[in-house]
Amino acid sequence: MKPFEMLALGIMLQATYGAAAPTVSIASFKHDKPAAASFTFDDGFSSGYQTVAPLFDEFGFKATFYITPGGSNNWNKWKEIAQNGHEVGNHTYNHRNPNQMAGDSAVIHKQVIESRDIIIGKTGIEVFSYAYPGCKYTVEFRDYVLQHHPIDRPCGEIYGGNYTVAQANELILKAFEGTHTLRPTTAPVGELLETSSRWGHDPGWACALAHNIADGGGFRPWPADSLRRHLEFVKTLEESLWVDTYINVGLYVMERDSATVEVVSHSSSDVTVGVSLPSSMNADWYTAPLTLIIEDGGEKRLYDLVPSADPVAIKYADTYRKGGTVNVRTSRKSPVDSKMLRLWGKRLVLPAGMQNSARNVGIFSVDGVRIASYRPNPKRQVIDLSHLNTGTYVLKWQMANGWGSRLVTLYERR
Ligand SMILES: [Zn+2]
Repeated sequence: MKPFEMLALGIMLQATYGAAAPTVSIASFKHDKPAAASFTFDDGFSSGYQTVAPLFDEFGFKATFYITPGGSNNWNKWKEIAQNGHEVGNHTYNHRNPNQMAGDSAVIHKQVIESRDIIIGKTGIEVFSYAYPGCKYTVEFRDYVLQHHPIDRPCGEIYGGNYTVAQANELILKAFEGTHTLRPTTAPVGELLETSSRWGHDPGWACALAHNIADGGGFRPWPADSLRRHLEFVKTLEESLWVDTYINVGLYVMERDSATVEVVSHSSSDVTVGVSLPSSMNADWYTAPLTLIIEDGGEKRLYDLVPSADPVAIKYADTYRKGGTVNVRTSRKSPVDSKMLRLWGKRLVLPAGMQNSARNVGIFSVDGVRIASYRPNPKRQVIDLSHLNTGTYVLKWQMANGWGSRLVTLYERR
């Protein structure tokens, strides 16, 4: 085993558990709300930006619009609402399903990738999700879609003029029972997937599928007044229902299911906990933090943390606000790649970025007491920590653009 591999082990081992380790878990949904809801509107009707998005804005919610860039589109309007936080997703170039693509690779490319890229180019916002026109897809086609989009939207309950407000409300309430499901509705094209890990998120997440607003025609249009009264009901659930775009909820769920959380240390006085939150998900696709629940001494605290294999020290006092409904911290990305930090016994080898640019490197106990400070310089790559006891410490470094920190475990070389 190479020294640097041993270093990695040294950091992971020797967790300093006290008598009562805090319990750390990943919340099912953001801010530990028990259920989530997304509202999707297909086919790119102009009512999306004229009526629906302004209505959602009025309630403080964001909606998802699946559009077809091959049709006539008011791109300034789609761009405006996309930049305002609504999701504009891919619904093929001109509403084709695999039946209508005849296995032609150029056509498939246009309907999936070119379509996506046109939306990105016109709105300036990344496109992450895809909805199947007519709910039709094959296994092979779905694989292709998912190579180019992190997530797809199957058909679920189709909301609209066929639902009364009370029925729509009932569908949202199903999310709290964990019984709401997204599911394929029609299966005329080849072999269909009945279930999938990417759709395994169903319990707790309600997804409305709608099209136009009633006075504009289209498939099962939803009267604007019904939609408003439905949103008034949804608003009353806001304390316990996370309402967000399909992709925001979907990426959270995928990341949640890809990540594991582990307590790697906690202080004797129970004010700091070090956690490792590695995830197997593609970091290019995931951009939002997960909500961690830390339960300690009968207290439950919430923290938002971007997944990382590097241990992160969470100091309760930094973030906990008494009386707040949600106590959240977003971890800042480390200004240097701390994976490059090497430890060999009690000698710390700084990565070049830290060596050349860090203003200060501090060693703290896990409960926050500063033990030593160092001023690195280009000639001083190795810091000798042999005067410190073995055990876990928090290393912090200050760069021009902010602080970074990670846990390090010093050990005796043999
Ligand atoms: Zn459609």
